[in-house]
Amino acid sequence: MTFRFQLHHTDADTGARRGTFTTPHGPVETPGFMPVGTQGTVKGLTIDHVASTGAHMILGNTYHLGLRPGHQTVRALGGLHAMSGWEGPILTDSGGFQVFSLKGINKISEHSVVFRSHIDGALIDLTPEHSMEIQESLGSDVAMVLDHVVALPAERDEVQQAMERSIRWAKRCLEYASCGDQAKFAIVQGGLDVDLRVQCARELAAMNFEGYAVGGLSVGETPDEMYRITAATTPELPAEKPRYLMGVGRPIDLLESIVRGIDLFDCVMPTRNGRNGFAFTDSGPIKIRNAKHKTDTSPLDDSCDCLTCTRHSRGYLRHLFIAGEMLGPTLLSLHNLTYYQKVMRGAREAIQADRLAEYIATKKSQWGIT
Ligand SMILES: [Zn+2]
Repeated sequence: MTFRFQLHHTDADTGARRGTFTTPHGPVETPGFMPVGTQGTVKGLTIDHVASTGAHMILGNTYHLGLRPGHQTVRALGGLHAMSGWEGPILTDSGGFQVFSLKGINKISEHSVVFRSHIDGALIDLTPEHSMEIQESLGSDVAMVLDHVVALPAERDEVQQAMERSIRWAKRCLEYASCGDQAKFAIVQGGLDVDLRVQCARELAAMNFEGYAVGGLSVGETPDEMYRITAATTPELPAEKPRYLMGVGRPIDLLESIVRGIDLFDCVMPTRNGRNGFAFTDSGPIKIRNAKHKTDTSPLDDSCDCLTCTRHSRGYLRHLFIAGEMLGPTLLSLHNLTYYQKVMRGAREAIQADRLAEYIATKKSQWGIT
């Protein structure tokens, strides 16, 4: 069997899951965090950097890679693995989130979504089948179905129609897919409405996907709303399949969602914030441009063993940002991704030892969250 999800342990207090998701390009330990490699690169980092952070699986964007360089070009370069040099597992999204959030939409119908390319203005007709075709060319280990994402807040009717269309599109994706060594993950939609989420999860669970995602969150709702929807959705998904919360989030959001039954995450936050001079540490967030770091010889995070923290001082990192040197964003992205992986590793160990609640309480106290 090409794909396998083994559940090793369930935390006695919280029900959080510790598992291994096996793919053709290797295993992914869960709970796990995927760095985002939008354009076939995790911005500013080499693949060796990314591997050194402890990441198992990375994410690529079908929308961006489908427009540029185009899926035939990626295929000609040997697929996304060969093109980028990343030998580990890769998950690609379907393009749905970008198409529906970049506001270039021309027409949505049952057949497809027609949008304007943000690169050259060309009209593109994205069907569920075409999204799968692109992802098969990219050669990712996991392909996401095309879904209809609605900006929140929205009227219930609109959310319901998009959710029902997402189910029909998921079915079309499953029927089109021809690649046996590519897992297909369905995406639960339904906005902030528990009944719609439950209905969507149940209908998708009845289809034979290798994994399930909770989508359409982290789009401006409060953390409590996100936790509430996640908690209502995961019990409806098959326990023996991995569950992926798309686009989330802050370290605390990851931990709170693991408690609610999530196994996989991706988010641009560690790299985007890193590029902006913002670091995550065990003593809370650090803004490296701040003048107080000017002559500080201490590392960003003295409990971190990444290249940034073992070799460089806060004073030097601040200098790089103030001088606009490209190494600054690289080093902070590297640290932040290492930090995210450390938080996830800690969560895995804590679940295995039935002390996840204690681990989260410690992290909250370190981060100054009450
Ligand atoms: Zn570090």
